[in-house]
Amino acid sequence: MGLFHRAVVATLPLVPRALVWRFARRYIAGWTLDEAVDEVERLQTIGACSTFDVLGENLEKLEDTAPFLKDALDALDAIASRKLDASLSVKLTQFGLHLDAGHCLKLMRQILEHAGETFVQIDMEDSSVTEATLQAYRSLAADFDNVGIVLQAYLRRTPDDIDAYADLKPVTRLCKGIYLEPPEVAFQDYEKVRAQFLLCLQKLLDNGQYVGIATHDPYLVEQAEAEITRRGLAPDAYEFQMLLGVAEPLRAALIERGHRLRVYIPYGPDWYAYATRRLQENPSIAGHIVSNLFKRRRR
Ligand SMILES: Cc1cc2nc3c(=O)[nH]c(=O)nc-3n(C[C@H](O)[C@H](O)[C@H](O)COP(=O)(O)OP(=O)(O)OC[C@H]3O[C@@H](n4cnc5c(N)ncnc54)[C@H](O)[C@@H]3O)c2cc1C
Repeated sequence: MGLFHRAVVATLPLVPRALVWRFARRYIAGWTLDEAVDEVERLQTIGACSTFDVLGENLEKLEDTAPFLKDALDALDAIASRKLDASLSVKLTQFGLHLDAGHCLKLMRQILEHAGETFVQIDMEDSSVTEATLQAYRSLAADFDNVGIVLQAYLRRTPDDIDAYADLKPVTRLCKGIYLEPPEVAFQDYEKVRAQFLLCLQKLLDNGQYVGIATHDPYLVEQAEAEITRRGLAPDAYEFQMLLGVAEPLRAALIERGHRLRVYIPYGPDWYAYATRRLQENPSIAGHIVSNLFKRRRR
């Protein structure tokens, strides 16, 4: 991370939420399920499928899991009743993984039963819960086949995790990883993360797994497409995935070239942590916010 980027990241918490919202808006479908459904239906018209994500993570009390359970069940009902081409993504700390893993598993079983045919992808959070998340997946996969995991290429452990879970052939979203992690846990070097992403992709495909290739990095997209061609993979054997509001021209090009493309649709009132992570990733937008802030202060 460059000096300017560091300065921007350090300044973001000082920015008023209303201003952050104005710039974050493109990454978030809205505060309600209805707004998210509208976005999913709009994306369907351009040939993209979606995954719903109710924003929120790292709850402080187990009681706070109840609204997230309701939100997840409501999203699943909307997918079924509107016949949406969509899955659901969940973060296990929304269901109390870090407080009581048994409680989290109980709620996840309820969600997976309710989901029926709909697929539920377990997002991967920071490294304090990597092991617990993978273990929860193993436990759920023993009884459900509509559940999958996310692996982060920047984590040093990920190639070993692929081997450890190869027997279950999980449907896997592969992404670079977004949380700030120390060097002993995650590679910090941009090229090293790219190289490990490609290594992990090879391992997953070698094992015959369905991979959600979740990146906006044009280099990785190009390498992944070359790999798909080299292996002669059918379009239903993998998919590309992108975040709402990011890399829309690349997204359109992938759809045009016949790839399945899923867009991640975050929504809900608990948008702030997600929005600041996205803005910290994109210094040009975040820098704009910070400069606006100073302009406003000078007035
Ligand atoms: C569908 C999906 C699900 C994800 N799920 C998880 C998860 O469960 N756990 C997790 O840790 N991470 C998750 N991520 C985030 C991921 O780990 C990366 O942090 C993020 O995708 C950026 O990495 P990149 O591969 O796009 O490469 P980068 O090198 O970061 O970006 C490549 C290019 O994409 C564009 N770009 C990237 N981000 C932005 C942005 N915010 N605004 C504008 N342009 C941008 C820029 O042009 C940039 O140069 C997910 C990403 C996607 C696409």
